[in-house]
Amino acid sequence: MYRTHTCGELTMADLGKEVVLCGWVQKSRDLGAMTFIDVRDRYGLTQLAFDTDDNEALRVQARALGREYVIKVSGTVIERSSKNIKINTGEIEIKVSHLDVLNASKLPPFLIEDETDGGEDLRMKYRYLDLRRNPVRNNLVLRHKIAQAVRSYLDGQQFIEVETPVLIKSTPEGARDFVVPSRMNAGEFYALPQSPQTFKQLLMVSGLDRYFQLVKCFRDEDLRADRQPEFTQIDCELSFVEQEDILVLFEGLINYLFKKIKGVEIGELPRISYADAMRLYGSDKPDTRFGMQFVEVNDLLKGAGFPVFDNAELIVGIKAEGCASYTRKQLDALTDFVKRPQIGATGLVYLRVSEDGTLKSSVDKFYGQEQLKAWAKAFDAKSGDLILVMAGDAEKTRKQLNELRLEMGNRLGLRDKNKFSALWVVDFPLLEWDDETSRYHAMHHPFTSPKPEDIGLLDTAPGKVRANAYDMVINGTEVGGGSIRIHDKGKQELMFKHLGFSEAEAQKQFGFLMEAFTYGAPPHGGIAFGFDRLVSIFAGLDSIRDVIAFPKNNAGRDVMIDSPSVISQEQLNELKIAVKV
Ligand code: ASP
Repeated sequence: MYRTHTCGELTMADLGKEVVLCGWVQKSRDLGAMTFIDVRDRYGLTQLAFDTDDNEALRVQARALGREYVIKVSGTVIERSSKNIKINTGEIEIKVSHLDVLNASKLPPFLIEDETDGGEDLRMKYRYLDLRRNPVRNNLVLRHKIAQAVRSYLDGQQFIEVETPVLIKSTPEGARDFVVPSRMNAGEFYALPQSPQTFKQLLMVSGLDRYFQLVKCFRDEDLRADRQPEFTQIDCELSFVEQEDILVLFEGLINYLFKKIKGVEIGELPRISYADAMRLYGSDKPDTRFGMQFVEVNDLLKGAGFPVFDNAELIVGIKAEGCASYTRKQLDALTDFVKRPQIGATGLVYLRVSEDGTLKSSVDKFYGQEQLKAWAKAFDAKSGDLILVMAGDAEKTRKQLNELRLEMGNRLGLRDKNKFSALWVVDFPLLEWDDETSRYHAMHHPFTSPKPEDIGLLDTAPGKVRANAYDMVINGTEVGGGSIRIHDKGKQELMFKHLGFSEAEAQKQFGFLMEAFTYGAPPHGGIAFGFDRLVSIFAGLDSIRDVIAFPKNNAGRDVMIDSPSVISQEQLNELKIAVKV
């Protein structure tokens, strides 16, 4: 038998028991008369003690153990003399009678401890060692728990988990596909799913009524902290539902998860339209852990002779409470922040309401005290507040002010990782103009239905048509999104036409779906959550990499297995692929 207990479970209640433990050597301390070894497994640490009563051969063996050796020990549970109440097993130790080395270990390239000396690259190369560390492994445990809870909630709501294929044909979700050559069909390629979108809709045509899947999706995009080329979705689809049904059901899911995993009560999710989100936060994924909503002041500040404001399409600002005491240096730092190329603003205007009520702005030349007063009033500013204003093209300025708002949120400590603020953003535009290709694209995807009352606008003002589409946002991160779908062939054809597909193209790519719609497709809709993002929010982490067992780096590489890699000429020949780089 390898073990009677794990390294995390023995306590004073087990005193006197003969036990067998297995694990890795975390640490050893040789105090001359005594030798102590901490043995570790997934469940915890147990102290092993070897003293002068033990036979010398055993002590020699113990002293020879290196870090991360895999050992098996037999012995008796005894009370410790110096106790460690921080850990479960801290009051006992094992008086070892027998020790086997199951496997030796080279000295690991970094410390396998909660705080490690290993850099990111090294830890990725030896990810299997990194995963021995508590904080990293705990993320996987959390991920597992959330996955179990998701399954339990959805199962309770009559959803069934169905696996959809991984070798498919391109699904247009706006990113590039990863493709896989087909040996048996030379010159032809499968695509890996960007999502199971068309399959889940077909499952609705099949009458499955409620589908879900924890599913890998693949998108060949540039990577960021919250993106990986392969990621996991909680993908769901339901029949005979309206948007309201979906919002209520998945509000239920998120409440269930927070309650079960974190003991946090989320409650009813506020809803905000896309238009309001953009107007009040300059973002379709507002971080609502803090207020600082935008205030538009065109009427108030135009016409005073300050050219930047006079020529602006939009003058808009935020109020940073208690920041009137910001020094010149701090204000300059904020100006530099918005002028960074990533943000690209031309400048920042401020109005300070000092503690004594004095008003002072960076554009005092153009505004008298009365105007400054009105300006402060528009923001409901009190003594001690600072108002930051930006101006220019409406869309760009809102985006820039969004960045500044988030930065101020960071500076003021308003983005607490232990606070959770969730909401629905609804009424997204159906279409989005793309300057590069000079045409409209589906903002969500081409299967999303327009709001019936807006269909008339498709020909006249396509950009104004709203969709039955919604996103769930938590702490400024889009964690999920979905829509009510088109389930009618004619409407789907019309949609493709508006997206610039020729009839032949639409038929070639999506003929199968439109044909399915002619065999009794029920009204349906769905949603998909980014599972990695959700887990990282629960874990209080910025990067989804930390909640993925074997993630890829920023260049899309797995540095542990060294992939992607070249394949042999034989494989290429078999696939009839000629490679020119
Ligand atoms: N397939 C969509 C996505 O991956 C989600 C949905 O519409 O259900 O974003």
